Amino acid sequence: MTDKLPPLREVIREFDLRAKKSFGQNFLLDLNLTRKIARVAGDLSDSVVYEVGPGPGGLTRGLLAEGAKRVVAVEMDERCLPALEQISAAYGGALTVHKGDALEMDEPSLLGQSEGEKLRIASNLPYNVGTMLLIKWLTLPEWKPWFASLTLMFQREVAERIVAKPGNKAYGRLSVLAQWRGKVRIAVSVPAAAFTPAPKVASAVIHYEPCEPIDPLVKLKDLELVVERAFGQRRKMLRASLKSLPVDPLALLSAAGIKETSRAENLSVEEFVRLARVYGDMRT
Ligand code: SAM
Repeated sequence: MTDKLPPLREVIREFDLRAKKSFGQNFLLDLNLTRKIARVAGDLSDSVVYEVGPGPGGLTRGLLAEGAKRVVAVEMDERCLPALEQISAAYGGALTVHKGDALEMDEPSLLGQSEGEKLRIASNLPYNVGTMLLIKWLTLPEWKPWFASLTLMFQREVAERIVAKPGNKAYGRLSVLAQWRGKVRIAVSVPAAAFTPAPKVASAVIHYEPCEPIDPLVKLKDLELVVERAFGQRRKMLRASLKSLPVDPLALLSAAGIKETSRAENLSVEEFVRLARVYGDMRT
């Protein structure tokens, strides 16, 4: 299905939507590209898609054209609202837009969910709050989470940190948080020139699906603490970097079966999870 709406360049001109840096605005104007991103999100016919920052609506139109049952969007810049209303009208009200800050949203109550519907998140995230939002969604206390998938555009460097494996210099806290109870990959590479205005760096779309945690008994707060301390001094051996924990680091490493001379950057996600489990047990 192709919509009968005007091209995005015209929309931007008509509603005077010049991109503002303060809102992290870099718009995608190529509807073939936004439809391609929408397809990464999966079968949308039974899905309610949550979109952060629709802007003039490039990705929104991609999601609707690819058959999303409903799209619920949160946009901070009120200048975009009239253009988004046009889209909603063209798609028979399948788009609902809330003005506000995505960091403050309680998404499940905003989205609602009927029998048989899946909730998904798809967004070309504003770079200034993108990582914060990702961490908000990856650290939900309830698992399985309310969303079935995340399809998110980040600066390439951030996307690489999310999917990085041990031994890679991008491997760190984001990699462990994204991989201990989810499957994640880079799905689309997007050159800087695809955006208006073009940012300085390339971007990439990641696709994430939650799964069973490696160890369901590990407490998220223990994992976050251990990972934070280990990567806080990533070049040091763990026997040194874990000294700031309130347990004997040598006893902890030995009980977890991890060499005291290992470094955070070489520890697998499974080993981090084991470390957190043993740490939690030692603290109780
Ligand atoms: N989705 C559009 C596209 O792909 O062309 C715009 C993407 S642009 C990178 C990010 C959008 O997020 C902007 O429209 C901006 O106004 C909006 N935004 C920035 N901070 C936000 C926040 N905290 N909550 C909701 N929207 C925000």
